[in-house]
Amino acid sequence: MLLFLNRRGYSPVLLCPGCGEVVKCEHCSVSMTWHVRRARLICHWCCREKRRPEMCMTCQHPGMHELGVGTERLEAVVKEKFPQAIVARMDADTMAERGAHERVLSAFRKKHIDVLIGTQMIAKGLDFPDVTLVGVVSADTGLFVPDYRAAERTFQLLAQVAGRAGRADKPGTVVLQTFCPDNYAVQAAARNDYDAFVQQELLFRKQTGYPPFSRLLRVLAEAHGEGEARQLLLDAVAPMRSLPDVEVLGPAPAVIAKVKDRWRWHMLCKCYTPAAFEKAMATIGTVEDRATRTCRVTLDVDPASLM
Ligand SMILES: [Zn+2]
Ligand SMILES: [Zn+2]
Repeated sequence: MLLFLNRRGYSPVLLCPGCGEVVKCEHCSVSMTWHVRRARLICHWCCREKRRPEMCMTCQHPGMHELGVGTERLEAVVKEKFPQAIVARMDADTMAERGAHERVLSAFRKKHIDVLIGTQMIAKGLDFPDVTLVGVVSADTGLFVPDYRAAERTFQLLAQVAGRAGRADKPGTVVLQTFCPDNYAVQAAARNDYDAFVQQELLFRKQTGYPPFSRLLRVLAEAHGEGEARQLLLDAVAPMRSLPDVEVLGPAPAVIAKVKDRWRWHMLCKCYTPAAFEKAMATIGTVEDRATRTCRVTLDVDPASLM
């Protein structure tokens, strides 16, 4: 069987049960992921590591609580529940070594592995005719990411993972674990119903004016001073606001507000017609020239990420 979980490490959050404080990266505004085998807290954004604190740094409460599940924890749980099963894990942490990827896949094909646990790595393009059971743990992990494509990505991933079961002539079973069994993306993926998903999704996109009903421009400013990033965007964006058929959102702090000690602000432009897009590009196309020694500026046309 394949067990899929799109989150590596042991637990994504280390939390103080006394005061609720979470161990965060000092350089990025994200929680650090606890990795048991390496015995390190690791920031998945800047890769900095640190030792696990023995007590809460804020209230000195002894012992921190491991919140949430990553592939490393899932592996430990499966091994404990099914001690007779041979379990292997495929993620960025276990596959760093050269040839590890091929080694695990070949062992799995030869049925030397009973349960293969993995992240996105096991979702794509792999053909295992003998896999008859696929489980997706926390299928809705990506559903509430603040990105208009959250549902699309969830559907795509679930449909892809589900497609790993019952290839060839053996029928297969797919189990999705979700808090939102009624969500249209989860429903459509469970039934492998692409048309139903697209119909719902297009309705949502039309109502909110996101692609394919507009084209997006995103400007990201990253500076050591938060005020600098914000001000640069305010100045750059001002002439955009009067353009017809262009909607300007922001500037606002990015979802991940700080990475590697740089504060991140962004703005988003929805251009509702090809002419509006041309005008917007003529107005903001050179925004990267505004970058200074202390502030990085990136213009992203049809951005793949809004984080
Ligand atoms: Zn505390
Ligand atoms: Zn970091």
